[in-house]
Amino acid sequence: MGAVLTLEDITHLKMLDRLKSDFIHTISHDLRSPLTAIMGYVELLERVGPLNDQQKQFVRHVQNSAQNITSLVNDLLDLGRIEAGFDTRRDETSLDAIVRYTLDNLEQQIKDKKLNLLLQIEPGLPTLRGNPIRLRQMVDNLLVNAVKYTPEHGEIRVELRSEGPQIIFEVQDTGVGIPITDQPHIFEKFYRASNAPKGTPGTGLGLAIVKSIVEAHEGRIWLDSVVGKGTKFIVVLPVFAALLVPAA
Ligand code: ADP
Repeated sequence: MGAVLTLEDITHLKMLDRLKSDFIHTISHDLRSPLTAIMGYVELLERVGPLNDQQKQFVRHVQNSAQNITSLVNDLLDLGRIEAGFDTRRDETSLDAIVRYTLDNLEQQIKDKKLNLLLQIEPGLPTLRGNPIRLRQMVDNLLVNAVKYTPEHGEIRVELRSEGPQIIFEVQDTGVGIPITDQPHIFEKFYRASNAPKGTPGTGLGLAIVKSIVEAHEGRIWLDSVVGKGTKFIVVLPVFAALLVPAA
């Protein structure tokens, strides 16, 4: 019978978002120098004289905490760079090599939790056009999460395949799952699901970084998860040739 069109001016929201990002970027940047000084001097402590066992233990605590803040600051700076579109490096990249390399690095953690790893990589998988460092960060965050949120003796299935002009990367686990009410927010900065096991280290930045990397590579990401059963993250990225402009 008719149509209703509603328009809303969101300029002020965009401005607020911009202010927030600038603020986070400035703070992260300013935290870097004092953190480097703390790490440097703590490292020197043991060299200027012998420390007793208790002092050594305190030094280790300081080192661990400073290391955690350093990773947080680096994550925030990375996110700022990717979101601002400064991350423009693009090389022909093999996602299968990145996945194998990342899994090699996680081998010990997978063994320690007695997880069953199923790896399925399509032979002759096409390459894609991307920043290998960022793609490694994307793969690493998803695989580390699968290991982190899956209890002992669980299973992790990693699959890489191509479908037409797209590469599909799937990471499926039999972990704690993500409640349906948390799922719409799971890619937001600092968001952690309400059922994240107590004491699990993390900042809630990993998936925000993953999403911004995927989107900067013209891709899409979504998840399929059931609490108590497990989670599957699906990433779709365009293959290298699909991005080439066909000759006229
Ligand atoms: P964190 O540093 O907390 O792991 P992420 O941004 O990587 O941050 O993930 C956000 C939240 O999403 C996590 O805190 C956790 O609650 C949930 N999550 C991420 N991956 C998984 C997974 N594979 N299984 C269950 N929950 C997950």
